[in-house]
This record gives sequence, C-alpha cells and structure tokens, in this order.
Amino acid sequence: MMITANDMMYLRRCVELATEALEAGDQPFGSVLVDGDGHVLHEDRNRANSVDATYHPEIAVAKWAAANMTAEARANAVVYTSGEHCAMCSAAHAWAGLGHIVYVSSSKQLGEWMEEMGVTSTSPINSLSIQEVAPNVSVQGPIAGLDAEVKALQQRAFHRR
Ligand SMILES: [Zn+2]
Repeated sequence: MMITANDMMYLRRCVELATEALEAGDQPFGSVLVDGDGHVLHEDRNRANSVDATYHPEIAVAKWAAANMTAEARANAVVYTSGEHCAMCSAAHAWAGLGHIVYVSSSKQLGEWMEEMGVTSTSPINSLSIQEVAPNVSVQGPIAGLDAEVKALQQRAFHRR
C-alpha cells in the first residue's frame, strides 16, 4: 500500500499531538483514528504523567473505538500513530478488532535512538513489534522523513529526564 497525501496529513497530526504531549510534560506520542471514509473520529496523546502510566494514545483510541463503533466500522478504520504501538496497545488494538495501522517511527528505531543517546529504557515491558503481538493486524511504517521529526521529539524528552 502506498502512503497517500491524506495519510501524510493524519501522520503530521500525530506528530503535532506528540509535540503537545511533550510540552504538557508527557511522553511524545500521538494517535489519530480515521474511519473507512477518511473522517477523523478520535485523537489522543500520551497522558502517562498527567493521568496514569497506562494512558498511551493507541490504547485510548482502541477503547474509544470499542465503545463507540460497530465491529464492521472498526475493521475498516485506520489508526495513525507517531510511534509504533507497544505490546499493551497492540493487544488492545487487536482485541478491539481495529483495522490497519500506520506508524511514523518503529519501536526498533526508538530503541536505537535511546541507545545512541546512552539512555536506559524505563519501560517495564519487552519491546515487541505490533506483528509479534498481533500477527493479523496489517501495518505500515516507518515513514522516511517524518521519522526524523519524531526522533527530535524523543531527544527532547530524553534530555528532560
Ligand atoms: Zn502503548
């Protein structure tokens, strides 16, 4: 599948939400839920510091979808996100029966960036790809060019710690 101009618009919104999270003292991650016709239904950002440690945007949109959409609509929806889902969020996405995922940067990249900066991960869970957790979910990413913007946000977050 090719990345379209609309995909880029949603992905840029994810980066904006990630920036908003960073500026609010949370980790820089943002996600947008789009229906099969291209309408934005819901968006959120990381609120792990301001709400609770499980408040990742990807699980937030999965829970919103489970509560507000039919099974068919969920299957046709696309979740755009600034960083690849963690294992918790991949599982929530799959249990909610959501469709395709497009992410800007991968969990593997995040790990490499942290290593590059000499930062030790504070994550309490293993870093797994979406498909290691949810093999039936179709996935696209990373997005060359935009991933550098996410890297810059992650660098700002690491340097703040
Ligand atoms: Zn997560």
